[in-house]
Amino acid sequence: MRSAVKKPNTNNANKKPKFIFVTGGVMSGLGKGVVTSSTAKLLQLAGKKVSCIKIDPYVNYDAGTMNPVAHGEVFVTDDGGECDMDIGTYERFLDMALTKDHNITTGRVYLDVIRAEREGKYLGQCVQIIPHVTDAIKNRLRKTAEDEQLDIMVVECGGTVGDIESLPFLEAFRQMELEDGASNTLFIHVTLAPVLDVVGEQKTKPTQHSVQELRRIGIQPDILAVRCKTPLTSDTIRKISLFASIGQESVISCHDAPSIYKVPEVLESQGMLRVISHRLGLDNLAPKMAGWKAISSSFSKAEGAVRIAVVGKYVTLPDSYVSVYHALSHAAADIGKRVEVEWIDSERFEGAHKNNLEVLKSFNGILVPGGFGKRGSEGIINTANYARAENLPYLGICFGFQLAIVAFARNVCGLDNASSTELDVDTKDAVVDFMPEQRTAHDMGGTMRLGSHDITVISGTKASQVYGSTLIERRHRHRYEFNQSYRHIVEKAGLVLSAHSDNGKRIEILEIPDRKFYFAVQYHAEFHSRPGRPEQAFASFVRASTKNQSAFGRAMTKEAQ
Ligand code: GLN
Repeated sequence: MRSAVKKPNTNNANKKPKFIFVTGGVMSGLGKGVVTSSTAKLLQLAGKKVSCIKIDPYVNYDAGTMNPVAHGEVFVTDDGGECDMDIGTYERFLDMALTKDHNITTGRVYLDVIRAEREGKYLGQCVQIIPHVTDAIKNRLRKTAEDEQLDIMVVECGGTVGDIESLPFLEAFRQMELEDGASNTLFIHVTLAPVLDVVGEQKTKPTQHSVQELRRIGIQPDILAVRCKTPLTSDTIRKISLFASIGQESVISCHDAPSIYKVPEVLESQGMLRVISHRLGLDNLAPKMAGWKAISSSFSKAEGAVRIAVVGKYVTLPDSYVSVYHALSHAAADIGKRVEVEWIDSERFEGAHKNNLEVLKSFNGILVPGGFGKRGSEGIINTANYARAENLPYLGICFGFQLAIVAFARNVCGLDNASSTELDVDTKDAVVDFMPEQRTAHDMGGTMRLGSHDITVISGTKASQVYGSTLIERRHRHRYEFNQSYRHIVEKAGLVLSAHSDNGKRIEILEIPDRKFYFAVQYHAEFHSRPGRPEQAFASFVRASTKNQSAFGRAMTKEAQ
């Protein structure tokens, strides 16, 4: 009699995507996103069609309504998703644009389930976490991977193993291993091996406990990626291997690297792909590293710093502007430099503290990123004006674009009370105003002007030099815009409106030609930047900034003379 056990399907035509699940243990902030992206990058460099999904177990539908200071930046995808900042990490590593389906939250899953229940799809049944919610999770993961015809999808689960919120997701992963088989699913667990004092040993107990917690849920990790300051010692590896019951070759040291872009090399130098290919039954996973190594080295070899002041509202958590930081670092690395960013709270430049603005002269350039609401806005307006008056390189993004217009209207056009209706609904001169279509939006979530839009750049302007093209596409996230009834007033005073969208309905770029570099964009240029291929506005800004010797630099040169 023939065996009833099914042989694995080797027919490529109905090949199913494989899944790698990345979970986190011990504590948050270990760099799971970088481990996820680096693993996916290695597979991509080995010729696999790969992508990443981030699961955020919170109940919000998306990240759009969350405070950036609590949760980090809201990353916007081409299709207008307001996503977790890890989506940005994946895009930068994989050099791919992802869709909003690559960020799954508890809110999105429950909405799927509740909608299906209302539509009568579960008629007669009692709707439960297992199997209905877990099925909805599996459906989303499989559908995205199959629609994109991937070889492998790397799925990162936010939070730490043991959190109540993440349980249904981990349960769904466990079921996928059962249903798809061990050769189609693999688990990477990211933990920490802390050292308590300078000469101390690497501690393995937190890793042991966290693996036990994962096993309690029914998941045995295949690879442990262990964060540590210096490489794991062979003793630590042996201990972890024994307690976690995984081979020593599967305990991977994730020690500090000179740049995040070096992490794929750190993992691969320890045979990461060998372990993955063995477990997933893939052969010949030999990544072609040369191109990527050239990019990652441009970060670790950079010499000399360009100092940028980022003046904004959410500076207590640099993750609020994480894509801005990376875009600056890409631009700096591209010209062989490091970027040094100082995060400055715009409230420092308000009211009686206007003199504080002097400090901005000690930087090579000034950047004002996105923001919302009145608090700190006067400080931003003062910053934008100071940069113009003192001829300091300035790059404004979104809020930094809108408030540069307010600053110009007040200080150059003599419209003393000019403002944005976001800051003062009754302003006499609303040079920045609510977009008309926003008036009908009542919900706060997902209702801004979001995602990628075509932009026409006007020839002969600085913008056309910066972009070398008259048509670009960039991502947006805003409710307010320049009020074009003030167009003639600002243009007459020397402001050049050098790009527009929606058939001229919206202004997208402003510049002041007689300044060294005074450039601001309504869109979020930062989401487009990649290591080795900086976004052009950032590249031009950083180049202009390196040419602008700061007061600090001038003082140093004098001292040396
Ligand atoms: N608050 C402004 C608006 O909604 C700017 C938004 C932003 O900087 N992302 O238009």
